[in-house]
Amino acid sequence: MGAGPAGAMLTKELAKRKFSVLCIEREIEAGHPNKSTAGTPVDTFEIFDIPKSLAYEEITGLRVFGPTESYIEEYDKPYGRLLMFREVKQYLIKEAISYGAHVMVGTEVTRLIKEKGKITGVSYKGFEGEGQLRANVIVDATGPEALLTAALGLIPSREPKEDPQSIDYFSKPGVGGAFEYFMSNAKPDKGERGYFLDIFMGSEYAPGGYSWIFPTTDHEVKAGVCKMDPTYLVPDEKSQKDYFQKLWEENPQIKDAQPFEVHLCPYRHWVIGGLKSATLDNFIAIGDAATKFQPVFGEGVRASFYSAHYAADAIEEARKTNDYSKKVLELHDKLWEKKWGRNWDVSRIIYQILYHSNDAQIDEFIKALRKVGFATLWNLYLSQGTARDYVSFVRHLPDFVSRDTIRKLIKLR
Ligand SMILES: Cc1cc2nc3c(=O)[nH]c(=O)nc-3n(C[C@H](O)[C@H](O)[C@H](O)COP(=O)(O)OP(=O)(O)OC[C@H]3O[C@@H](n4cnc5c(N)ncnc54)[C@H](O)[C@@H]3O)c2cc1C
Repeated sequence: MGAGPAGAMLTKELAKRKFSVLCIEREIEAGHPNKSTAGTPVDTFEIFDIPKSLAYEEITGLRVFGPTESYIEEYDKPYGRLLMFREVKQYLIKEAISYGAHVMVGTEVTRLIKEKGKITGVSYKGFEGEGQLRANVIVDATGPEALLTAALGLIPSREPKEDPQSIDYFSKPGVGGAFEYFMSNAKPDKGERGYFLDIFMGSEYAPGGYSWIFPTTDHEVKAGVCKMDPTYLVPDEKSQKDYFQKLWEENPQIKDAQPFEVHLCPYRHWVIGGLKSATLDNFIAIGDAATKFQPVFGEGVRASFYSAHYAADAIEEARKTNDYSKKVLELHDKLWEKKWGRNWDVSRIIYQILYHSNDAQIDEFIKALRKVGFATLWNLYLSQGTARDYVSFVRHLPDFVSRDTIRKLIKLR
């Protein structure tokens, strides 16, 4: 269910492995909603066989602006790119179709079917009519809505304070989630080697989160704001729209730009660091439905791709034994844990530090990043850090980080 990065990748992978697979997408086109900045490390393209032509300009620089401190680095080679989000999803779905997958667009999964306590299928409704379908495995890839994952109780439902469906959600102070504009007539800064990703932190632009300007071409950018932790409140907090307005009015890169798309993701279920177990008998949740996104930055496309591949491996294992129980399908959870478990656990702690910090503490954190240096930070981000990288990072953490937190981080080494 769902043709986002997770569902589209899984559909392709299963069709390629000669499974009978059906993808049901609520929107009228696979590719919609075009809701993501979709920044990703350069190696995502090779690992997941995505043509480089489906990306915007290469990014070589990173600038993190705190209340008064900044971290500015230009790397000697490109480290990231922004995917053409809509085009990548369409590419994956078209590939899936070429391998024999079936796809229903404009059609919504409405509920799960359980028979004698066993998950056996789903009901659907929409352009392709109304009906029921049965399968050996149902995969929830419906993104943050996590339709079935929430209904099955895998995600504890934390009721948001405000209605995430309401049109003025982002005009209210203190709500979680993210929105961005895709803007034209921008003037993105270019360094010696290429474009910069800019991140803005602190109470002026994004308390409990960050704002960003990510360039796609020499005159277009994706720029937005997120509140990663809606429980972190500051006095006289403004709305995310107000914080973005300030950035828009003040930053020369976007001062004269205008939006041609708005991308929205209101806060819904939030399990920081992903579900440790996203499987049941005959069921797997992948991507944002299992909250697999990177805890500090919310980077979720790459996580969705990994999660989809692990789900395909688990389903393949189940086919071998004709056993679609949790016992076999939880191979997905094990593969995820092996590759990303520790990294996501560490990131969850960094999330707690970063999004509960006041302005002075954010500045201290940025100073610490400068001491650690980009090469080490990037290795750690990609889960390729050595023990020495890790120790260097923990050793340089600012003094306000509690001993208890440091102990937890050392334990995860
Ligand atoms: C503003 C913003 C900026 C972001 N920036 C980045 C970034 O720079 N880098 C990065 O890696 N990630 C980023 N992310 C996160 C990233 O976009 C998500 O993690 C990723 O899209 C998750 O993929 P998914 O397939 O799990 O879910 P989704 O992309 O949400 O896809 C879910 C799909 O399921 C469909 N669906 C939902 N309900 C049903 C239903 N009942 N029946 C059928 N279909 C259904 C939806 O229409 C959708 O197509 C950003 C997100 C936002 C909102």
